Amino acid sequence: MKIGEPEKFIIDGKRLDGRKPGELRKVKIEVGVLKKADGSAYVEWGGNKVLAACYGPREVHPKHLARADRAILRCTYSMAPFSVTDRKRPGPDRRSIEISKVTRQALEPVVFTNLFPRTAIDVFIEILQAQAGTRCTGIVAASMALADAGIPMRNLVPACAAGKVGGEIVLDLSDVEDNFGEADLPVAIVPQKDEVTLIQMDGNFEKGEFEKAFKLAVEGCMKIYEIQKEALKKRYGGA
Ligand code: ADP
Repeated sequence: MKIGEPEKFIIDGKRLDGRKPGELRKVKIEVGVLKKADGSAYVEWGGNKVLAACYGPREVHPKHLARADRAILRCTYSMAPFSVTDRKRPGPDRRSIEISKVTRQALEPVVFTNLFPRTAIDVFIEILQAQAGTRCTGIVAASMALADAGIPMRNLVPACAAGKVGGEIVLDLSDVEDNFGEADLPVAIVPQKDEVTLIQMDGNFEKGEFEKAFKLAVEGCMKIYEIQKEALKKRYGGA
């Protein structure tokens, strides 16, 4: 057993933070929170606090990156030094470069980049406070910032992880579950299109468990999708 590892993850059907196995942490989304960006969003998801800001479509610098037939989408995931318990060294590291890349790949399929040739759409994701699942929180926030900027999109992109702790498949891992659990499976989807734009896996599942966890993660995504739509309605009204 590692230091800090709980003896049990599920007691009387309840997880250590009181959630049922298929329950999400509390999620709050607000759009249009920053005045200077073209679009922005703030997401609180459990203990995660994430801001996303979108600029564009705008001129591309450096110019050689411009594409004649479409806009380029650039995503930058960054963790604030005070977002974790031990101060994080500022600036990009391997992990944030990887998450920036998978975030772009998760969002690119829904953006009508062909409408804005020779331009760039930039999305900056700032993790102000981290508590497991920041890549999913970041994708959700970035998707909302793009929508708030009025970038034409096929749909929003919800994301959510499922995983395995103490031998059980659970939704949306907490920090303790993420640190000491057996597996973590973050997923992002395009609702109504049966399209998966992010799927990563940390740890191991046994036979049959992957399918169960994937299904649960997609169900989690659909719950997040509803919260995303509500946040847009709250800001802009309409059906
Ligand atoms: P995700 O945040 O998407 O779950 P990881 O699995 O890489 O991505 O990270 C899990 C959690 O570990 C993060 O949410 C964060 O709470 C914590 N973490 C990540 N990087 C650091 C770091 N440099 N220092 C302390 N904690 C970190």
